[in-house]
Amino acid sequence: MQHALRIGHGYDVHRLVDGRRCIIGGVEIPYEKGLLGHSDADVLAHALADAILGACRGGDIGKLFPDTDPAYEGADSLVLLRRVMEYARELGYAFVDADCTIACQAPKISPYRDQMRENLASALDVSVDQVGVKATTTEKLGWEGKGEGIGAWAVCLFERCS
Ligand code: MG
Repeated sequence: MQHALRIGHGYDVHRLVDGRRCIIGGVEIPYEKGLLGHSDADVLAHALADAILGACRGGDIGKLFPDTDPAYEGADSLVLLRRVMEYARELGYAFVDADCTIACQAPKISPYRDQMRENLASALDVSVDQVGVKATTTEKLGWEGKGEGIGAWAVCLFERCS
């Protein structure tokens, strides 16, 4: 028996360094450090994009947008996320819901959370209420807790239309 629902999970990490912008969920957060990466290093957008690709069995963002390709240098990850969603729709999948968690000691995420949800929902062309974003510290434990990097997880649910 074929079930129509598909679940996807994504995980991403980027290092926090001096001299880079801190862009999470499409929001540039004022902070003394930023996220290092080939694109704008938006760790949340990347985790969500990988979750979507997981649900539609479409590979991963490293396959779709290789970090060796100069076309993606400094790329706006919300644009990449939009393309991933278009790909999922082309494959015959309809978005149902997503939820995300950011793990970082600093900066504080809560003042930006609603804007992140709006940015992600807009990139996906879905309603804001279909995208959850929350954050946790790791009680100063591990590399997130020491401020060495920021991690993000995302899960999403799709319905197969064909
Ligand atoms: Mg990434």
